[in-house]
Amino acid sequence: MLSWRNIKPKSFVDAMSMLYFMVMVHSAYLYGEIAIVPWLKETYSVGTSKMIMYQIFALFLYLNVMGNVYKIIETNTSSVGKMLPTLLKPGWTFCYACEANSPPRSFHCMTCNKCILKRDHHCMFTSQCIGHSNYRFYFWLVFYGWCGTMFCAIMTVPYVLNLLDGFSIWKIPYFILPLFCFVLQYISFFTAISSFITLLSVVFSCALVALLFWHCSHIYKGQTTFESSHRIYDYDLGWKENIVQSFGTKWYLTWICPWINSPLPSDGIEFQTKANYENSKDQ
Ligand SMILES: [Zn+2]
Ligand SMILES: [Zn+2]
Repeated sequence: MLSWRNIKPKSFVDAMSMLYFMVMVHSAYLYGEIAIVPWLKETYSVGTSKMIMYQIFALFLYLNVMGNVYKIIETNTSSVGKMLPTLLKPGWTFCYACEANSPPRSFHCMTCNKCILKRDHHCMFTSQCIGHSNYRFYFWLVFYGWCGTMFCAIMTVPYVLNLLDGFSIWKIPYFILPLFCFVLQYISFFTAISSFITLLSVVFSCALVALLFWHCSHIYKGQTTFESSHRIYDYDLGWKENIVQSFGTKWYLTWICPWINSPLPSDGIEFQTKANYENSKDQ
């Protein structure tokens, strides 16, 4: 279960990012239910079965986004509570902030103030570090976030065009600067909000697809963000095994729901290296 200690943002930037993220996810979902669903029914006479499919799909995306956020926050991916050796082993470092030995691939996060196992990066939208144990949830959060923003953009662009009585070159500012156009009284408040949600969906779907490809490339090569930027390939066990290392033994089920159990082969402290893995296969 989540406690306030887990949820509490760790910095002002994290607090603002979390607030913004939560407001946007819920606004987009409610906007779909309040504005888009009735409009689809009225304008296109969409049948009940299609409307149910729309709502099941929207709910599936929403639950996966929120479920993965929950699991990212709930999962302990730090070295706190782990049995760490008192003697410094080869490849290990001493963390002066934690006053403890830190395993390979682990880094200290200044915001979380802990050493994070197989640290990837600090995610400000969840105010948590992404590392060994919660990377799977982060990946699916990005994936479903992208699906959600794409879905939102596909649904809201025709709706906003309808509100603006069609498209013309003179109406481009209504899309790009909707709130400014509302202040100048060119468009109504509702049209401005609709246009703003559409603008954000388009921008975020482009940003998230780039982020998704970036992480797919890391998973494929068995790297963290740090290892990718430093061209470290020590943990590349081949793409199939790399997927298991990131998503667990039930990797093919993890997309369905964040609560599906998929044990990771590593404990986050000891990792199989490329050299060891190839030797064990040869024997
Ligand atoms: Zn540390
Ligand atoms: Zn952190």
